[in-house]
Amino acid sequence: MRREEPTPVNADALEELYLDHNATTPMRPEAVEAMLPWLGRPANSSSVHALGARAKRAVDCAREQVAALIGARPSEIVFTSGATEANNLALRNAPVRLLVVSALEHLSVLKTAESLEITGHSTVVVPPEPDGRVQPSAMLSAANSGPALLSLMLANNETGVLNDVATVGAGRPTGSFVHTDATQAAGRVPVDVDELRVDLLSLSAHKFGGPQGVGVLYVRRGIMLDSHAQTGGGQERDRRGGTLNVAGIVGAGAAATAAAKLLDADAARLRTVRDRFEQLVLAAGLHAIVLGADSPRLSNTSLIAIPGAPADAVMAGTPHLAMSHGSACSAGAPGPSHVLRAMGVPDALADCALRLTFGPMNNLPDADAAAAAVVASAIRVLNHASHDLGGVA
Ligand code: PMP
Repeated sequence: MRREEPTPVNADALEELYLDHNATTPMRPEAVEAMLPWLGRPANSSSVHALGARAKRAVDCAREQVAALIGARPSEIVFTSGATEANNLALRNAPVRLLVVSALEHLSVLKTAESLEITGHSTVVVPPEPDGRVQPSAMLSAANSGPALLSLMLANNETGVLNDVATVGAGRPTGSFVHTDATQAAGRVPVDVDELRVDLLSLSAHKFGGPQGVGVLYVRRGIMLDSHAQTGGGQERDRRGGTLNVAGIVGAGAAATAAAKLLDADAARLRTVRDRFEQLVLAAGLHAIVLGADSPRLSNTSLIAIPGAPADAVMAGTPHLAMSHGSACSAGAPGPSHVLRAMGVPDALADCALRLTFGPMNNLPDADAAAAAVVASAIRVLNHASHDLGGVA
């Protein structure tokens, strides 16, 4: 039977205002430019010929660039296919039987921890406070019967709330290891593995202007991970087998350097844009609530709920705004966000939470446009609901 060829999708067909940078970011021009010469070349960094040696040098340069972003040594960088794989390697290969993870973690941590129970691991899930932060003392006391792996994310992908990982790092019981998922933090706030006192750290290049499909697990020098999670060709000093994605890794390195250079300026500008958006929505008289607002949080992230206006209905009225509700990683999975549930946010309010995450290309007019569109759509939804209830529209 002859099958019709699928029609390629035109990525440019929609005129959207992109406000979903915690899901993925546009690539930085520096990353695209660095990758182009490597695309289409048969460059295997393990090959012994001249092209292989050049590819290895390019990967080594990217290793230095990514290491510099987090204050690590190049030899401590293990390239992976993303933060999902980095989190899996950290949890599955840590030489411990007790996992202490926060309830805020991405599913690549939570589900991995859960799946390890069949291999004899035990897991303690530590809930956050209502402000979206996890108490370091709660993590530490759960690890008392260690040695344990303690895993606490640096910045949450939904609320943007930042955790005090350094206190966990400093207070861990002897023989325990500390892992942080810094996927949303790297390239947005200063990250230094020594200041955080972590042994393991995950990140993903597409969250700071690099390509999708490239991540990193930082492994502190001297730490011997088991290797049962991924065995293979011995690449990455036997810590992660598999042919390296040379073009992608080169792009990740260039993006790391560009993000580091602009980090402070970007963060300050994004705070102005994000704050303007929130002020406009809060001033609209709709009793909007910013979730996580009482805690230190990423300057680009706004998780805002307008009670009575479900996020999917508001979004249906704003098709030109690319934004999220809950976590984009689990988009499609029905039900309220596990993060908001853990924070004690009632399901009815969590259902109304819209996540707008700004990026370096966004400006104040974007904040104005987004706020106006969100408010107008929410008013239509609320009017509709009160009309359905027999109220006055
Ligand atoms: N951790 C966090 C906090 C994330 O936000 C994400 C992606 N949204 C991941 C891990 C997984 O990253 P990736 O899909 O690039 O593997």
